[in-house]
Amino acid sequence: EQHSEQYEFKAEIKKLLDIIIHSLYTHKEIFLRELISNASDALDKARFEQSRSTEMASADAELAITITTDAEGKRLTITDSGIGMDKDEVVDNIGTIAHSGSAEFLRKVAEDQAQPDNIIGQFGVGFYSVFMVAAEVTLTSRSHHPDAKPVRWHSDGLGSYTIEELDEDLPRGTSIEIVLREGEEEYAEKERIEAIIKRHSNFISFPIFVDGEKVNTIPALWREPRFNVKKEQYTEFYKFLTYDTEEPFETLHISVDAPVQFNALLFIPQKSPMLFDVNNIEYGLDLYVRRVLIQRENKELLPQYLGFIKGVVDTEDLPLNISRENIQENVLIRKIAANIHKQILDRLLKIASNEPERYEQFWREHNKLFKLAYAQFEHQDKIKDLVRFNSSHCEDASGLVSLQDYVERMPEGQNEIYYISGQSREAIESSPHLEILKRKNLEVLYLFEPIDEFVLESLRAYGEHAFVAAEHADPAQLEAISSDEEESKEELTEEEQRDIDGLLKAMQDILGDRVTEVRSSKRLHNSPACLVNPDGGMSSQMQKIMHLVNK
Ligand code: ADP
Ligand code: MG
Repeated sequence: EQHSEQYEFKAEIKKLLDIIIHSLYTHKEIFLRELISNASDALDKARFEQSRSTEMASADAELAITITTDAEGKRLTITDSGIGMDKDEVVDNIGTIAHSGSAEFLRKVAEDQAQPDNIIGQFGVGFYSVFMVAAEVTLTSRSHHPDAKPVRWHSDGLGSYTIEELDEDLPRGTSIEIVLREGEEEYAEKERIEAIIKRHSNFISFPIFVDGEKVNTIPALWREPRFNVKKEQYTEFYKFLTYDTEEPFETLHISVDAPVQFNALLFIPQKSPMLFDVNNIEYGLDLYVRRVLIQRENKELLPQYLGFIKGVVDTEDLPLNISRENIQENVLIRKIAANIHKQILDRLLKIASNEPERYEQFWREHNKLFKLAYAQFEHQDKIKDLVRFNSSHCEDASGLVSLQDYVERMPEGQNEIYYISGQSREAIESSPHLEILKRKNLEVLYLFEPIDEFVLESLRAYGEHAFVAAEHADPAQLEAISSDEEESKEELTEEEQRDIDGLLKAMQDILGDRVTEVRSSKRLHNSPACLVNPDGGMSSQMQKIMHLVNK
């Protein structure tokens, strides 16, 4: 004897359903993500009960999600062998919008008079999102409690639902049968469903079968203990994630429990991304909450200068229905990002000190983006140990030195780190500014890229040693640095001095106010003259950059 009761939806659910049914939202496919994540939650709970040896209905059932498509009948069915619900639970769980996503969604719509279509996807309105595509939904569930009766819930989403207990026994779990609305027939096509699952639910830890075939084949590796994962598995996952054909340069598998729980699987690719415009690159980490994809390429999780890093982050500590806005402001996300940031730098430092040649390989590929770290206030000390430049110490333009190496080579009396900018090593080496430094045998960093000066300007100093452009090097201070070469310390005769003063005056007259001053200097031996900046001014390279910027 079956006994079906009819109930009106509560006012707030009616409102939600009204918006959902009339929405013109274009990514309706997210309904499947919601249903699969509910199934996965229910399976997690069943697994938990199993682990406590609770006596359960269908104790031996495989924990899985089974989907069947019926293109002809325009139907789709999603079945799980999870924890199931009895009648009271269906009324309580499906009959309210207690859960954060849809309540927040309604508040947002009311508050901002926001266009619901624009924000549906962000909130992921849970079970009811099924009515974006469904004309009718029948939910049949059998609780895991051994003596529970199966229950059937049915609705067209228009105002009421019916619910009845069934007399027959059914296997444990929940089955949701959807009769698709006109125009939504694509969701009864096997290929379409498979593609949606691959996009949104690929890492659900339970097998998902579509018409008997398993669709999600790549496990959520980041959730596995590190010692369980083989290198080939990391590589397979990396290739899947990035479409790269090479294996990653470096893999970071992070598991943190406190103060915030998260797992992350991060990769440094061998090759840098194409950088047409470093300030406008796509980057970020894929954010998962309990294995469900929430957002691709989330930028909150990674500073831009580490944008070459690819990977996923998964946390238990956020609600599945968190909106993008809330991700941006979220304190937990910030904590996760800070932890990731530090771990990446620590790993790079470790490579730099243990495998310097391999680190150089990294630097050659990724330095362009990494140098945007000049705008980074945190971790400056680590960044200083990670930057590399060419220098006069190197044999050719391909050599790289670290600031630490530079400082270790400094002779007694040298306090500052000298640098000079130019298009090429040849151009730099013929610069008169370099003369005195060369003569003194002092190492000079060669900067070939405009950004290099920004980097040194913002890093200011390495330890006690300030970065000083060669053209600003104080000749008196340079003279004080001992060098092997004996200098001629001849004084000028009065007559010679008069000649020089006359020459300076003549030059000053000719150049007029195009120069601040013409003065004699001891810094040059082989060049007759060089241009220098007034003390404390920008280097000439920097002036060129500013000139370009201000044009
Ligand atoms: P949320 O998943 O955020 O709680 P939903 O609207 O997606 O919100 O689902 C509401 C509730 O309905 C869930 O919390 C759960 O208790 C119940 N539920 C939904 N689907 C299932 C299912 N397949 N098996 C068991 N319970 C379910
Ligand atoms: Mg849900």
